[in-house]
Amino acid sequence: MGEFDLIARYFQRPTSRAVLGIGDDCALLQPATGMQLAISSDMLVEGRHFFADVDPSTLGHKALAVNLSDLAACGAQPLAFTLALALPRADEAWLAAFSRGLFALADEHGCELVGGDTTQGPLNICITVFGEVPHGQALLRSGARAGDDVYVSGTLGDARLALEALRGNITLPPGWMAAARIRLEQPSPRVALGMALRGVASAAIDISDGLIGDLGHILRAAQVGARIDTAIAVDLLAGDVDGRVAQGVFHHEARLACVLAGGDDYELAFTAPVSARAAVEAAALEARTPVTCIGNIESAPGLRLMDAAGQRVSGNFASFDHFA
Ligand code: ADP
Ligand code: MG
Repeated sequence: MGEFDLIARYFQRPTSRAVLGIGDDCALLQPATGMQLAISSDMLVEGRHFFADVDPSTLGHKALAVNLSDLAACGAQPLAFTLALALPRADEAWLAAFSRGLFALADEHGCELVGGDTTQGPLNICITVFGEVPHGQALLRSGARAGDDVYVSGTLGDARLALEALRGNITLPPGWMAAARIRLEQPSPRVALGMALRGVASAAIDISDGLIGDLGHILRAAQVGARIDTAIAVDLLAGDVDGRVAQGVFHHEARLACVLAGGDDYELAFTAPVSARAAVEAAALEARTPVTCIGNIESAPGLRLMDAAGQRVSGNFASFDHFA
């Protein structure tokens, strides 16, 4: 199977939103009047971002999901994407499963594959997504203001637990492991929530490297600080059913470390003025995505983690010695 057969068989599909898809030197997109293009790239490298033996259909899902998550964080609606692929060999079973996982998520979000590049080499997947957002309405990191509430969507930390379990460092109860593994391998980008938060949130980011690290990007961009209530945050771990099992399996500090610094969550962290509380709730309902207020923005720079008694929490949540 040659390069062009491979593209035609596994990746070429008719487009409806793009003016021109795969097959020419460029694809053509026509953003609607009054819309701006939102563009983002993410690369997945074997050994660094996924295990060599990962199910190729979940890999296709995740490669696109991490990109859609960036569009979500800007409040953009997905439009199209390109796929640059380095493959060690043209393995038909692998390609069929990979493209199945990829297109299932693409179809869910009306996002069309419009081009790319294919080459032989160590497995490497680079996707660029294109979305559209009404002029001036993109959610930026720099918009957070002192007094704003700090929110996160969904649950945090379970992807990291699945990773630690796959590495053999911990054991999760079977039901929890199955759910956590889906969080790690097939995250759901919060596209609907990002769009619903246009004009409501003052700033947003997607959580790919852990809450503390990614919230830090908002704080630096907006030149503000934040206070986070760890007694609320610790319960964001999804756990087996509703977090209660998590309390019995891991001690408080381990759960908090997963929530604050787990990574691979692909939830949104965002800020909104207190006056927008009802609008945030309405956005969460519309997007069918729960959100939790975990603290607030302050003018003094830095991130302050507080416990239930209002005392500063110390501890290095970037490290995972907590499972030792
Ligand atoms: P060029 O030589 O102009 O870079 P190619 O021969 O690499 O073009 O690709 C031919 C067509 O197939 C182009 O439209 C390109 O965008 C598309 N394409 C190549 N690889 C992929 C891929 N992995 N997924 C989707 N489209 C691809
Ligand atoms: Mg080329």
